Amino acid sequence: MNILWKICPLKAFRDNYIWVIHGQRHAVVVDPGDAGVVQAFLREHELTLAAILVTHHHHDHVDGVMELVRHQTVPVFGPALEAIPGVTHPVRGGATLHLPELSLSLTVLDIPGHTAGHVAYVGHDVLFCGDTLFGCGCGRLFEGTAAQMFDSLNRLAALPTDTKVYCAHEYTLGNLAFALTVEPDNVLLQARAQRDRARVGLGEPSLPSTLALEMDTNPFLRCYHPVVRQYAEHVSGKKIDTAVEVFSILRQLKDSFG
Ligand SMILES: [Zn+2]
Repeated sequence: MNILWKICPLKAFRDNYIWVIHGQRHAVVVDPGDAGVVQAFLREHELTLAAILVTHHHHDHVDGVMELVRHQTVPVFGPALEAIPGVTHPVRGGATLHLPELSLSLTVLDIPGHTAGHVAYVGHDVLFCGDTLFGCGCGRLFEGTAAQMFDSLNRLAALPTDTKVYCAHEYTLGNLAFALTVEPDNVLLQARAQRDRARVGLGEPSLPSTLALEMDTNPFLRCYHPVVRQYAEHVSGKKIDTAVEVFSILRQLKDSFG
């Protein structure tokens, strides 16, 4: 199938990305925390907004929704388990959205952990994962347990490895610094750090990454790996039997790492 759309990052606030999927005439935006940034892009490229997708209820992801729908009616898809002003199509895991203006169909995944109702949108080898999976890291546990987040990350890791990962923040460099403390000898991680530091240094996004790259370098997807488990055992001073325990220790360490 011919791909008739492309995906652009709009920078918002300090380090958010609002992803825009657009063709010649229509655009779909993901997590529009700032309406002004989206409106300027639509004007500049003479695009009509066709739909809004929201992954979770945090303000930096949803605050632009009401302004964007003030003068037009477009479907707003968002997690059924979270109260988000402006959502017209509450969705749950397993649902499929059809965005006819872009010939695009996306499936919804439930990925709780960062928030209780957090969802992802996946299809056509692209993944919009909000604040759950980041470049070389994962989201903080604000409303869920380590076990929930670990399950959610495993659900994402089960997608095809060439899936492109569109995260909602540019957190990659900080995450790489932490990952290098966990696996200093991982050569793929070292290469990624070099590449992403150069890209971000030039003002370019480090994203999207791919699931294959995340599986090779992201410690939160590598909790089954003996080196990562040994690191968690070393810092916690105890024997660890399960990957979810490894995940829980890494997440706590990252919280205080910065
Ligand atoms: Zn968030």
